Amino acid sequence: MARTGFVSSALFLRHDTGPGHPERAARLVALDRRLAQSGLVEELERLEAQPCDPEFLALAHDRRHVESVARAIHAGARVLDEGDTRVSADSFRAASAAAGGAISAVEKVLAGEWRRAFVAARPPGHHAERALAMGFCLFNNVAIAARYAQRFLGLERVAILDFDVHHGNGTQHIFEEDASVFYASLHQYPLYPGTGAAGERGKGMGAGTTRNCPQAPGAGDAQWISALEDFVLPEFEQFKPQLLLLSAGFDAHERDPLAQTKLTTDAYRRITQMCTQFADAHCQGRVVSLLEGGYDLDALAESVEAHVQSLARP
Ligand SMILES: [Zn+2]
Repeated sequence: MARTGFVSSALFLRHDTGPGHPERAARLVALDRRLAQSGLVEELERLEAQPCDPEFLALAHDRRHVESVARAIHAGARVLDEGDTRVSADSFRAASAAAGGAISAVEKVLAGEWRRAFVAARPPGHHAERALAMGFCLFNNVAIAARYAQRFLGLERVAILDFDVHHGNGTQHIFEEDASVFYASLHQYPLYPGTGAAGERGKGMGAGTTRNCPQAPGAGDAQWISALEDFVLPEFEQFKPQLLLLSAGFDAHERDPLAQTKLTTDAYRRITQMCTQFADAHCQGRVVSLLEGGYDLDALAESVEAHVQSLARP
């Protein structure tokens, strides 16, 4: 059986968002500890993420954005663009390694070395717009991974499922006019960043390859799972992706402090199983999952364990 990859890096701990920030290094420490305690880590093949060539960041971003993030951090900035995106001296390297880790995972999966992979990276990526850092995100890791798979590995169609509790505005906007990448999102609505209404279905050539499933605050497992089953997966099936990428945020958990959605840990197991079953049937089992949000340390660690277990043991 092809292995499941686990990509992380000590560099991710050096992205320092300052005191009191929810998107903190302790998230990865908690998740690592949990995977080690459960023994799950022994079933995974670990790979150290490396910073990537800035050219790859430009697959999803304006070059000027990449340069201005680098310049600002080099000049000692502690905050970028929107006020909630805090950075430190090592943040560019960490963010570059988050994208680099996603690229490595996609390469390994498409080479058949791994069947699936989980990338435990920070900073997260799905709020980063083509030319703007926002919502704790510098570069859009999932968008870079999708573009890399198309540009360098010959894929035509990539599907992205984003189940972070927040809508992935950046990812949607990067692909909304592009019929070759299907972006689907389950998220709480209304909530930050304010995008992701059901009527947003893509534009121009990309009309129909965006699918938003906004869920009311207080919604739980049943609503989220049926949205995935009834709306997203049937459309993915018609789209026929060659790779499924996940923007895996765990902040829809009932214990998460940033939203009012009430998913249990078991919902993450179910959602993951539905994704792996879809991938097994339609895209050679290929799933690459990238960590986005999740801010209650215990809920995050527990949910990631359920998620990775379902990726590794279908
Ligand atoms: Zn989130």
